[in-house]
Amino acid sequence: MPLPRLPQLRALQRSAFHTSAHTKALSALALPKAEQISAHWKGTNATGGLTKNFIGGEFVESHSAEWIDVHDPSSQTLLTRVPQTTDAEFAAAVDAASEAFKTWSKTSIVTRQRFVLELQHLLRQNADAIANSIVLEQGKTLADAHGDLLRGLQVVETAVGITSTLLGDKIEVSKDMDTYVRRVPLGVCASIAPFNFPAMIPLWTIPMAAVTGNTLILKPSERDPGAAMMIAELCQRAGLPSGVLNVVHGGVPTVNAICDHPAIKAISFVGGDRAGKHIYDRGTSNGKRVQANLGAKNHAILMPDANANLAMNSIVGAAFGAAGQRCMAISVAVIVGDPSAWTSGLIERAQALKVNGGFEPGADLGPLISPGARDRVTSLITSALDEGGEIILDGRNFKAPEAYPYGNFVGPTIIKANTSMKCYQTEIFGPVLVILQADTLDEAIEIINENRYGNGAAIFTQSGATARRFESEVNVGQIGINVPIPVPLPMFSWSGNKGSVLGDIGFYGKGGINFYTQNKTITSLWKAEDAIGNRASVDMPTHH
Ligand code: NAD
Repeated sequence: MPLPRLPQLRALQRSAFHTSAHTKALSALALPKAEQISAHWKGTNATGGLTKNFIGGEFVESHSAEWIDVHDPSSQTLLTRVPQTTDAEFAAAVDAASEAFKTWSKTSIVTRQRFVLELQHLLRQNADAIANSIVLEQGKTLADAHGDLLRGLQVVETAVGITSTLLGDKIEVSKDMDTYVRRVPLGVCASIAPFNFPAMIPLWTIPMAAVTGNTLILKPSERDPGAAMMIAELCQRAGLPSGVLNVVHGGVPTVNAICDHPAIKAISFVGGDRAGKHIYDRGTSNGKRVQANLGAKNHAILMPDANANLAMNSIVGAAFGAAGQRCMAISVAVIVGDPSAWTSGLIERAQALKVNGGFEPGADLGPLISPGARDRVTSLITSALDEGGEIILDGRNFKAPEAYPYGNFVGPTIIKANTSMKCYQTEIFGPVLVILQADTLDEAIEIINENRYGNGAAIFTQSGATARRFESEVNVGQIGINVPIPVPLPMFSWSGNKGSVLGDIGFYGKGGINFYTQNKTITSLWKAEDAIGNRASVDMPTHH
């Protein structure tokens, strides 16, 4: 049942939208996309209206008195308002998921497989609309927004193989006695997503949870919920029964409600260290299974023998793409040997990148997510100067493109630093590359191993021996050899380590299936011959 409307609140919101629209407006490229989204999608809005919750198969307007504004990071135009879901609405979502679990967990594996098959088809058909929503709310470029969706879509496509990947183990352990494993769903699960991949991260969890027979409460980032709402609508169109996927919005109160609700059995979290630690501690202390992917500082070692062009193009692309707002961005280049051989090439390539609104043709990177994020990034750059670092390319006073005077832009920045500086120790999450120098490969590896994070690291070299040593000695979970962003495709699992994860089971791939299932091991005896004789055996079974 749709919830009743709140006319006064809406009037207030309309007037707020029009006031802000006088001074801050969507660009001519963005406006038609925003209008299309508002006209065609049930759960989201990009022209100042409300984002809805998705509960029990209905897109419902929240009764909340507390709303969070979502602004276009290129223009500050108000796009939508996201509810801080009320306690009653949250409880309704969990009830819907609990009810749906009773039947969804019993559906056949091929029914669940058919859902993901259909979903992948619909995601492809609607890729442009989803990418447009990502550009509007998150700010990344259109090409990058398509990549965001594609990397999630690959998880959906791999989930189609569930009829093979969920095959269990079975062996005859004694005459006529079999032991076999059933991998059964957990129940109601929850997924809490960050702002930087509004489509990919929800798609890390929705297909894996659903295809294994669970039901899911998704809490998208309150900063860019649009893509998740479109994906929810497509799940419904793909035949997912009501209540199997529910989407509730909000900030910390919604997260805490997820951690505390006894019906929720497992939480998948992706985001920053602070929230992740809080959710891991609170969720596990409430008896829940929690997987948490956290922050990162990813290094690339540049060896003197590297293919220079490949290495510099790769590092610049991986440092500044998505304005550095990727957990696998390369944020540190460790140059082995003389840095001057590399710095001019890196600067030249970074300067050639076009910083612009995400819909602009040729844009290489867009704005940061918020004015607060921009201020944080610029102050971290400034801290390098205070600590004796050298800013060799300074993006702090990047002049915003004419069409986007209010955008949260920071230009590509390169800093020569050392490992004690704040700009090295902190995850900057902006278009900033820190350069360190090392004399040997071993020294470079030691720097990486001492860093508290362990998501990824890359090496650029032409030597197999060097690469082999790096691979075996470096202590991070995802390693690139002449590959800058070694995120495993979803036939593998996410394998960040050290401070970049909490929990033991990785996202998607085999890890994803393990996370969303538990084993039942059954030993059964069906004697082939009739049970004959009448003497009970009292010996310990030895399975001979
Ligand atoms: P964030 O931690 O601020 O937010 C993530 C989620 O947690 C959001 O849904 C938010 O509502 C919630 N949240 C935020 N603060 C909270 C708090 N104090 N208590 C409880 N919940 C809270 O992260 P973000 O800024 O949206 O995303 C960027 C971060 O995510 C970066 O650190 C990045 O490295 C990390 N990230 C990691 C991966 C990975 O796979 N390792 C992938 C993407 C992003």
